[in-house]
Amino acid sequence: MRWGRRNPRRYYDREGREQPPATVGSVLDCYKVQACCETCVHCSDIDHTRWPAAYPLPDIALHLLCTGCGAKGDRISVQVSRRDGAFRP
Ligand SMILES: [Zn+2]
Repeated sequence: MRWGRRNPRRYYDREGREQPPATVGSVLDCYKVQACCETCVHCSDIDHTRWPAAYPLPDIALHLLCTGCGAKGDRISVQVSRRDGAFRP
């Protein structure tokens, strides 16, 4: 079991193994993506299609700056939710 430094933008299983993150391509069309600031709770829709399909979705936060308080990516989380009325095929 490895309990070394962990990436806060990754999920780890019970054995401490890093799991593959969702990618931009895996949420195209069916979802909307929001960035939420953990400091001031400002949330905003983002255009995740600007990143390549293989790009790890949680890592988009690293490129963002909160327009509410100026916090940078390590204080921002990326959240995925269904569009109203949309269903996955
Ligand atoms: Zn903020």
